[in-house]
Amino acid sequence: MVEPLGTQKARHPSRRIHVGGVAVGGGAPVSVQSMTKTDTRDSAATLAQIERLAVAGCEIVRCAVPDEEAAAALGAICANSSLPLIADIHFDHRLALRALDAGVDGLRLNPGNIGARWKVEEVVRACRERAVPIRIGVNGGSLERELLERYGHPTPAAMVESALGHIRLLEDLGFDAIKVSLKASDIRRTVEAYRLLARQVDYPLHIGITEAGTTWSGTVKSAVGLGVLLYEGLGDTLRVSLTGDPVEEVRVGWEILKSLGLRERGPVFVSCPTCGRCQVDLIAVAEEVERRLHDLPQTLTVAVMGCVVNGPGEAREADVGLAGGKGQALLFRKGEVVRKVAESEMVEALIAEVHALLNEQGRQ
Ligand code: SF4
Repeated sequence: MVEPLGTQKARHPSRRIHVGGVAVGGGAPVSVQSMTKTDTRDSAATLAQIERLAVAGCEIVRCAVPDEEAAAALGAICANSSLPLIADIHFDHRLALRALDAGVDGLRLNPGNIGARWKVEEVVRACRERAVPIRIGVNGGSLERELLERYGHPTPAAMVESALGHIRLLEDLGFDAIKVSLKASDIRRTVEAYRLLARQVDYPLHIGITEAGTTWSGTVKSAVGLGVLLYEGLGDTLRVSLTGDPVEEVRVGWEILKSLGLRERGPVFVSCPTCGRCQVDLIAVAEEVERRLHDLPQTLTVAVMGCVVNGPGEAREADVGLAGGKGQALLFRKGEVVRKVAESEMVEALIAEVHALLNEQGRQ
């Protein structure tokens, strides 16, 4: 385990809830979530996507439940999903009840948006009977009109007031299996909102930068926003939101956690940017190596370096590494040169060495 950075703050103390078998809060590892992008009514396609997410390291998955037909499909999805499933519901408490009957492990629902108190009571009763938690998800783009009028904009204070209002509705019914998110597409507003809320409640925090953008820009934004929050000790579970394949959301989420030394999973890649000294097609080699090892769950460090300046040093530090030369490379394992390989063999040689090492260590 990489030591957390010296000034990284202690985690915000939060109580623990469970989403299926996954603990959230109370010092549990920060979990990685995603959301399916299939039509939930198509249970086969949704399950196929859930399985792809699971292979990539997703730990909790959420499905949108916009109507009765989607709620009806949840039975088959829950029965066959390898991941705990959260139903994402807006406005209609009957959909929440249907989802709970179908066996979901969590609800994302804002109790203030489902109308009369008896409806909230019904949902809370059903959640309590099944030990199912509720995520209150405040989104800067859909704040209550009254708060918008009073604050003028979806400010951090307005978002927190909205969250506290929803929380109070559940607390009044004695329900505290709650987690909370406060998402805005603006990073500074999001960070400030979480800071404010964390001073007032000890519920686990689900963090994310919403509507972050495409895979490229959303990855950068999410890394900055979630990086700041996590570095400040805020966040018990995260979802990276990307306009793209949800598998990328999971990979980015893991990379953020790995970068801060908060979780370990799969390879840590070290590769140089290349420069005029490089005499192999290192960019292609590094991209291919990363693609081939993407879903490997075992932890290890893999280095792909362009030349002898920094190459052998980094490659030696890694579990398995390559240091490029002229049309060839040195293959290292645990600091020792294994052999010289031709440029055309670099990828295969490194992958084979990774698997050989894992086999010898009894890790696969
Ligand atoms: Fe350039 Fe070599 Fe450094 Fe890569 S390792 S950036 S090729 S000097």
